[in-house]
Amino acid sequence: MAERADFDIIIVGGGLSGGLLAWLLKQRRPGLNLRLLERDATLGGNHTWSFFESDLSAAEARAIAPLVTSSWPGYRVHFPGYERELTTGYHSIASQHFHAVVAATLGDDAILGADVMAVAADHVTLASGAVLRAPCVIDARGAQPSPFLALGFQKFLGLELRLAAPHRQRLPIIMDATVPQDNGYRFVYTLPLSADRILIEDTYYSDDASLSMDALRARITDYAQRQGWTIAEIVRTEHGVLPIILAGDMERYLALQTEGAPRIGLAAAFFHPTTGYSLPDATHVAMLLADHAEAGALTSAGVSARLLAHAKTIWRERGYFRLLNRMMFRAGHPRERYTILQRFYRLDTALVQRFYAARLTWSDRLRLVIGKPPVPLRSALGCLSEARMLKRHNNA
Ligand SMILES: Cc1cc2nc3c(=O)[nH]c(=O)nc-3n(C[C@H](O)[C@H](O)[C@H](O)COP(=O)(O)OP(=O)(O)OC[C@H]3O[C@@H](n4cnc5c(N)ncnc54)[C@H](O)[C@@H]3O)c2cc1C
Repeated sequence: MAERADFDIIIVGGGLSGGLLAWLLKQRRPGLNLRLLERDATLGGNHTWSFFESDLSAAEARAIAPLVTSSWPGYRVHFPGYERELTTGYHSIASQHFHAVVAATLGDDAILGADVMAVAADHVTLASGAVLRAPCVIDARGAQPSPFLALGFQKFLGLELRLAAPHRQRLPIIMDATVPQDNGYRFVYTLPLSADRILIEDTYYSDDASLSMDALRARITDYAQRQGWTIAEIVRTEHGVLPIILAGDMERYLALQTEGAPRIGLAAAFFHPTTGYSLPDATHVAMLLADHAEAGALTSAGVSARLLAHAKTIWRERGYFRLLNRMMFRAGHPRERYTILQRFYRLDTALVQRFYAARLTWSDRLRLVIGKPPVPLRSALGCLSEARMLKRHNNA
């Protein structure tokens, strides 16, 4: 006989995807006996999650509005040969605020300092040896290494600075690629958080995942000085190594999800293949599962089936992004990667929006590759086969 369940649903990992799902479920089905298990002392880790207004539907934007900490009416990009201001709204969520809002809604349903050793379809085992049971267990423990994905990386160090005087920067500059290029495509990302506070991230689209914190810290300090800014205090530091998918074996990667507990977030490869950003996907999946929960009882098998259908659809739809990534990472010289982005940002605003929202039309896809190729044709042709790239990657 099956053992009695302790809860209706257990979500393992209180980062972006798990925290968001628990928070939405609690609002939509307050009677649900839910537990969110997070290993750390806070939910959400140490991040600034940003997204474009056009990434989300109106309903998704309304749902996560209480989490948003900063908003701007547009953003800028700077390249050696070109500068542009775009009027698409841009928003950020600070993980400290995320923790405060989500923890307040969940109360005792969020268990912090809960290190989960094993996750199965109907129970989880904590490091203490305790076993908690539920008919629905969701694994949201973040990025998992897999031989079925060939990756490049978007890696960065960010310093949130308080300056001695106002910086006078009105909008985020999401790419300032006028800086010297090395270690792949390099750009500086700046978010003006208040009159005298700014987040500066030194970022690289790189073939390897290593980060030299000291070198990047020095580069950020140097960048601030060049803007004429005097640093009064480093308020906070964050760093990230985000996956950029070059190639993958969808069938085998997704097979992982059918074993036991369904996965969400980076663990399920629910992120934009070219930017590594997962906030729009996390919001979409949380809404999808909140709808699913309203329709009937939650089980691991039912959620797995729902998510598998979603995962297969987006994997198919995003094959084009993986192809672009292969061109960017494998066909051209790393130092020339910025020319691809510089060319991209000359395209019209609606296309740029659809690119970041991973909703390109067929004519967008054509427009992105026609004209003067930004990489040598021969090398580009060598990148066409996803299966061959994955094999080469695994043999290397
Ligand atoms: C610094 C940084 C900035 C980023 N900025 C953006 C951005 O601007 N926009 C965007 O869309 N994306 C951004 N990303 C990418 C991506 O959206 C984030 O990494 C996002 O947090 C991934 O969500 P997740 O829920 O999959 O994983 P995570 O947020 O990493 O959550 C996983 C959680 O599981 C917990 N956990 C792991 N193992 C266990 C265990 N055994 N037991 C219990 N708990 C466990 C972890 O402590 C963590 O809290 C950023 C990433 C980083 C690192």
